[in-house]
Amino acid sequence: MGYYIVRKFRTGQLTIMTGTEVKADEGIELASEEFKSKKKALIVLAEMQAEEQYVARVSELGCAVCRRMGYPGTPVEIHYREGSSHFDFLGNVLGLCPEHHRGATGLHGLGKRGFKRNWGYDEDDLLADTQRLLDEQDVARHQHQGKIPGK
Ligand SMILES: [Zn+2]
Ligand SMILES: [Zn+2]
Repeated sequence: MGYYIVRKFRTGQLTIMTGTEVKADEGIELASEEFKSKKKALIVLAEMQAEEQYVARVSELGCAVCRRMGYPGTPVEIHYREGSSHFDFLGNVLGLCPEHHRGATGLHGLGKRGFKRNWGYDEDDLLADTQRLLDEQDVARHQHQGKIPGK
């Protein structure tokens, strides 16, 4: 029977393939996992589609550091909290502009300790900012629809 593979590509494409299928030219693979059952593979595929939507929302918020300086909406690169994966995204995704991501004043450029020393806050604070903003959007949307959040 073989097995099922959930694949995610840099293009954002998400697919399920059986283990015997040959990969076509879908581009660079970001993540993949293998499953014995198709049901489980479909569940994970749905999770990854949720991740796509989540990352899109984080992107729209703009760079988390620029935002703290009063400049919301600067174009971002997506940063995952160290140790997290594409299968564990909730609250672990940050949007950072190229400078504040990889630049000399960025999270990777300065390193964890250097970043905190330079800015006075750290990755966790920025992740918390991001999640709070998304939660506020959810609350606003639910209120708009006349629903009570969490019910
Ligand atoms: Zn920035
Ligand atoms: Zn990063």
